[in-house]
Amino acid sequence: MKNIDKCPFCNNGFIKHKKINVRGKSTSVFSCSNASWYSEDGELFELSKDSTCSFRIWGNSLQKWGKKQITLKEVKVLLRGDDVIVNLWSFKAKKKYKKYLTLSKDYGVSVVWDIDIDD
Ligand SMILES: [Zn+2]
Repeated sequence: MKNIDKCPFCNNGFIKHKKINVRGKSTSVFSCSNASWYSEDGELFELSKDSTCSFRIWGNSLQKWGKKQITLKEVKVLLRGDDVIVNLWSFKAKKKYKKYLTLSKDYGVSVVWDIDIDD
């Protein structure tokens, strides 16, 4: 596991990239070195008690918006503090969206819904 960049939410953590399997599907997690995640049943990932930072980005966290994976490249750009633009799709509204992504301490990444980006 290589360090990608410093953790934006704690003093001495580094973000690491790991491939994992969730319900038989391969995805990635980008998590702080001060956070240790474990799984009891192979499905639910819990933060261990000795973790001091909970920051992580699940690679598949925008799956319901039609974006299968958040890539290593996108995470690198976000950690650098630069903008990442993603194309999303609402299955419900059958509508496309083009939005900025931002880092979120609680959710890893969040979509900036307030700002529209023109094509
Ligand atoms: Zn951290």
